[in-house]
Amino acid sequence: MRNPEFSERTRVLDLTDLRNKTFDVLVIGGGINGSGVANTLAQMGISTVLVEANDFASGTSSTSSKLIHGGLRYLQQGRIREVRNLIRERDYLRRNTQIVKDIEFHILITPDSWHRWEIRLGLVIYNLLGHRITFPIFHRNRGEYPSVVRGYFSYLDAMTDDSRLVISNICSAHNHGAVCLNYARFTAIERNESGFSARISDSLTGKEYVVHAKIVVNCTGPWAAEAMKLIGTSNRPDIRLSRGIHIVMPAGIFSLKNAIAFRSHVDGRQLFIIPHGEVVHIGTTDNFVGSPEDREISKEEVNYLLESTSAIFGKMDAASVITSFCGIRPLVSESSDPGKATREFSVLRDDGIIHVLGGKLTDYRIASRKVAGMVAKSLGIKSDMDGLPKIDYERDAGDDPVQYDLDYECAITVDDIVRRREGSSIYSLDAGASMKKEIERHVGKGDVENQG
Ligand SMILES: Cc1cc2nc3c(=O)[nH]c(=O)nc-3n(C[C@H](O)[C@H](O)[C@H](O)COP(=O)(O)OP(=O)(O)OC[C@H]3O[C@@H](n4cnc5c(N)ncnc54)[C@H](O)[C@@H]3O)c2cc1C
Repeated sequence: MRNPEFSERTRVLDLTDLRNKTFDVLVIGGGINGSGVANTLAQMGISTVLVEANDFASGTSSTSSKLIHGGLRYLQQGRIREVRNLIRERDYLRRNTQIVKDIEFHILITPDSWHRWEIRLGLVIYNLLGHRITFPIFHRNRGEYPSVVRGYFSYLDAMTDDSRLVISNICSAHNHGAVCLNYARFTAIERNESGFSARISDSLTGKEYVVHAKIVVNCTGPWAAEAMKLIGTSNRPDIRLSRGIHIVMPAGIFSLKNAIAFRSHVDGRQLFIIPHGEVVHIGTTDNFVGSPEDREISKEEVNYLLESTSAIFGKMDAASVITSFCGIRPLVSESSDPGKATREFSVLRDDGIIHVLGGKLTDYRIASRKVAGMVAKSLGIKSDMDGLPKIDYERDAGDDPVQYDLDYECAITVDDIVRRREGSSIYSLDAGASMKKEIERHVGKGDVENQG
C-alpha cells in the first residue's frame, strides 16, 4: 500500500482543521526528539499534533556528526552507564532500521594521539559494553596513511543520515495518524479547563491558528529556554549551548575506506573524518555560545579543523572546503568545559508541561518512551511501549525523488529537498547546485520557494 499524501496541500487542510479538534498531545519542535515523541505517541493511538517553526530537522538534528554511537570518548570521564545505554540503542537501530549502518573507525596513533594502552583499555570496555568480546589489535601503518601515522586500532560503530532519520519518524507518525506541521511556530499558550490552547503562527503566510491539547511536550532543543519563557515555566534549568561545526571536503583528497578518529595536535580534542560517498565530513568543534542563533561559522573554527587535519594528511587548502555546517548542542550541565558536559537527556515536568532537554540522536528512542510513559500515565492509558518507536515508513520504490519529497514528505522549499530530504548540499561535490537547478526545471521556478 502506498504512503498517504503528506504535502503542502494536506498541510493547509490540517492547519484549517485545527480549530475543530482537541488533541491529546501537542509536541513543539520537529527535531529528532519531537519526531520520536510524536511517532511513539501516534503508535500508541494517542492523538498528537506536532508543530515545527521551520522545516522538520532544520535545527540541530540535521547538523550533527551523524553517528549512532556509544561515545567511546565518554569512557575517559567514567560515564559508563551513559555509554552502555547509547550502545544498546546503537545496536537496536543497527539491527532494526534501514537508515542506520555499520561503520568501521580507525583510531590513528600519531605523536599527538592518546597512549596505546589508553585506547586499548577504552576499546576493551567499549566492546564489552556492546557484548563484543574482541581484543583490540594494534595495526601498523603499511602505507594506508601518511608516515606520521604509526598505526591504528579499529572498532565498529554506526552512522545515519540525521535529517532523514527525523523525516522518517515524522512520516511514520503521519502514517499513524499524527498531524505534523512544518513552518508552524508556537508563539503563546493559555491554560484552560480541558488543558491548553496554544497559538501557532504559519511561517509561510503569517496566519494565526489555535491548537487545543490536553498535554504539551516541549522538544525545542537549543531553543528550549526560549520556549520555556513563552510557556512561563517557573523552574528553568541551566541549559548551556555549545556550537559544533563540520567542514565538507572531497573524499578524493583522503581516499579513506573507513572513518577515522584522531587527536588534534592543537588542543588534544578528538576529531573525526567520516566518508560520505563523494565527500568527507570533518568535525567537530565544541564552544559555548550565548544563543541558538549564533550559527555563523568563523574562519578560526574552519582553520582549526584544517590545521588539525593538515598535521596528518599534509597541507589542506581552505579552497578545497566545499561547504560547512554548524549545529548547536543543548547541554544540561554545569561543567565549564563543553567537552566534559554530559550528553544525557533530561525530561522534566512543570505545571503540566513536559520538557525534553539535551540528549543525542542516538538515544532519541529512550527519551521518546520516557515522555510517552508520562503522557500515558497522565491520560490514564495503559500501553505496552516495548519496541517503540518503530519507523513505519519507507519510500515507495521507483518514484521520482523530488516529486516524492513534495507529495509524501511535505517538502515546501528547495532547501527542504536539497538539504534535508536528498542531502545533496552536504553529500555531493557541488554542494547540491545541480540538484537545485534540476528542481527548478522539474517543478518550475515559482512552485517551490527557493530558500536555498
Ligand atoms: C556538532 C554536533 C554533532 C553532533 N553529533 C552527534 C552524533 O554524531 N550522534 C548523536 O547521537 N548526537 C549528536 N549530536 C547531538 C544531537 O544532534 C542533538 O542532541 C539532537 O539533534 C537534538 O535534537 P532536538 O530534537 O532536541 O533538537 P533540534 O533538532 O534542534 O530540534 C528542535 C526543533 O525545535 C524547533 N523550534 C524551536 N522553537 C520552536 C517554536 N517556538 N515553535 C516550533 N518549533 C520550534 C526548531 O526549529 C528545531 O527544529 C551532535 C550535536 C552537534 C551540535
